[in-house]
Amino acid sequence: MRDYPYLLCLLLILWIFMACYLGLPHLKNRQNRIFLTMLTIYAGVLTLELIAHPIGMRVFPFPQRWIAVLNIAYRALFLPGMYCNFLFITNILRLNAERAPWKARFLRGLFVVAETLTLSSFLNGIVVHVRPDGSYKGPLYGVLAFCGLFYLILSLVMLTTCSSRLSAYERVSAWASQILLLCGLMIHIFFPVDMILSTAYLMSIIILYLAFQNPNLYMANRGNAFNVRAFRSVMDERLEKNSYRILAFALRDYIDMRGIYGGPQMDSGVSLIGNFLVKTYPEHQVFYLRSGRFVLLGPESMDCEQIRHELHERFQAPWVADDAELDLSIAIVQLEPDSGPDTVDRILNYLFLAFDNADEILSRPDGLMDADSIRLIDRQVDVKRSLDRCLERNEVEIFLQPLIDSRSRNLAGAEVLCRIRDEDGKLISPSIFVPIAEKNGCINLMGEQVLEKACQFVRDHNLEQIGLSWLNVNLSPIQCMKKDLSERFSTILEQYGVSTEIIHLEITEQSVMDISRLEQQIHVLQGFGFRFSLDDYGSGYSNLSRVKQYPFANIKLDMSIVWDYFRDKDVLLPTIVQAFKEMGFSITAEGIETAEMADTMSAIGCDYLQGYYFSKPLPTEEFVTKYTSLRQGA
Ligand code: C2E
Ligand code: MG
Ligand code: MG
Repeated sequence: MRDYPYLLCLLLILWIFMACYLGLPHLKNRQNRIFLTMLTIYAGVLTLELIAHPIGMRVFPFPQRWIAVLNIAYRALFLPGMYCNFLFITNILRLNAERAPWKARFLRGLFVVAETLTLSSFLNGIVVHVRPDGSYKGPLYGVLAFCGLFYLILSLVMLTTCSSRLSAYERVSAWASQILLLCGLMIHIFFPVDMILSTAYLMSIIILYLAFQNPNLYMANRGNAFNVRAFRSVMDERLEKNSYRILAFALRDYIDMRGIYGGPQMDSGVSLIGNFLVKTYPEHQVFYLRSGRFVLLGPESMDCEQIRHELHERFQAPWVADDAELDLSIAIVQLEPDSGPDTVDRILNYLFLAFDNADEILSRPDGLMDADSIRLIDRQVDVKRSLDRCLERNEVEIFLQPLIDSRSRNLAGAEVLCRIRDEDGKLISPSIFVPIAEKNGCINLMGEQVLEKACQFVRDHNLEQIGLSWLNVNLSPIQCMKKDLSERFSTILEQYGVSTEIIHLEITEQSVMDISRLEQQIHVLQGFGFRFSLDDYGSGYSNLSRVKQYPFANIKLDMSIVWDYFRDKDVLLPTIVQAFKEMGFSITAEGIETAEMADTMSAIGCDYLQGYYFSKPLPTEEFVTKYTSLRQGA
């Protein structure tokens, strides 16, 4: 005997659940469509069960013939429920039907045949045959249980083989939901206890909802926009069909703006923008990718021209957040399927790199990425990949460029310059990969590997025989922000038995950085015995009075200031050199390319010379061979 109040209770829970679910924002993707279909099927199953129940039959007094039809419909919904559950599991495991079309066709075919047979029971009673005595099994009734079990076991097999694609929480939840369904189905088959299957079905749906469908997992914490996870999920599907348009924009100088307007105001501003987008473009999906970056995703028919125009118009006016007026400007970028990127990761990379280089890449008024900007970003993506690979395998190389004593013209020291190689073994210039390493934080690892290689070089060679007194290692200001830098550097030196007298550190002062942290770091490193050179003096940021604050032993004149002097010889450079010398610094001139440059710079008072006139940076062994033989020849 079925328990009518229990059945009513299940249906009530389901309706409340459905009402809440439908009231929340939804992603327009396959997973959501499958889940909604599952909910609808389950609501249908329970409603039909309620009506076809003996008490239901009294409440809804349908004729016997109708009761038979409702019974068949109720059982015919069982298989679609199981099939949707199976599709849901394939979807969360990102098992794409297009990649295995035969398997997908077979599974769909099996479902269609079994369902057609069941539905044909209306005419022939072959699967479900409702009789006046209450029995309902037709000769092929087993088809239903067999197919249901088949899809369920297949879901479990897929979960076993592909579970690494899920997080631990998702894995446990997916397993729990499927085991519950399996138990419900087995009990239903072997001990026909009523409503066990319905209960298991409802519980499994709730578990799947909590782990995979809960909108909190997909909502950005600002505005009503979706987050990166949602973007990945929707974009994966759009890429399969190759039909989408992306209009993305970033708030210019987001970090600086946070400093100017304050974090809470900017957060409110971002929420306002998110809400504005959701309200203004309900037909498109709005994503917030953090740090002031928004994406509008639409079909190929999306009118990007119009939206771009409207966005520019809107950003002419301030955003009023918490009584503060935020004047914000944006950089817009537009992406279409034929622009190049073919995976979600690449699309995200493109967008982020485009925003990082907004002024270079997005200079076109239409914001559409042209072939040149795509090539530039492609190159950056390749470099990033090479950098990651080299760092992971500890394949960073060092080259050495001589520092020549200006009076004796003999080798005095050498600058250690980092190199990485691309997939084809071609060298990549540090001027390309160092800024990337600084941006994504791997500069610290890179710096440590360079220092290690430099120490290895010192340990494995007789420096006196080469004529080397010290090595200059470059230190990025970003590395100086790392609190334990000095400990890590001195540990590496200790490990290789190298004295801090031999390793000098070159550092470039940059405009945007925490000066006090830099000062503090330099003093701690000095305490460990390291000596410092100020690199690239005259390239823009360093100023004369500040130089005094730091304990530099040597100042390196940037090649731009040296070359300027040879273009137009005025008194400025000699005066600066004299001033530095009187302050007790030694001076190195970079970019020496001719004998005349070498002679003039030493006459001005430079102590060391560096440049292609003497040598380009060389692989370490080539450097050793060259300078050992020069020394022996002397
Ligand atoms: P830098 O420290 O100013 O290094 C000198 C750069 O000038 C080197 O470029 C060198 O090859 C180049 N150079 C030297 N003499 C001449 C010359 O006569 N003519 C011309 N045209 N160029 C000359 P490189 O090796 O491409 O390095 C570029 C920059 O990358 C370096 O500038 C440095 O800022 C950075 N870098 C290199 N290695 C490292 C490293 O291990 N760590 C960090 N943080 N930065 C590094
Ligand atoms: Mg340098
Ligand atoms: Mg330099």
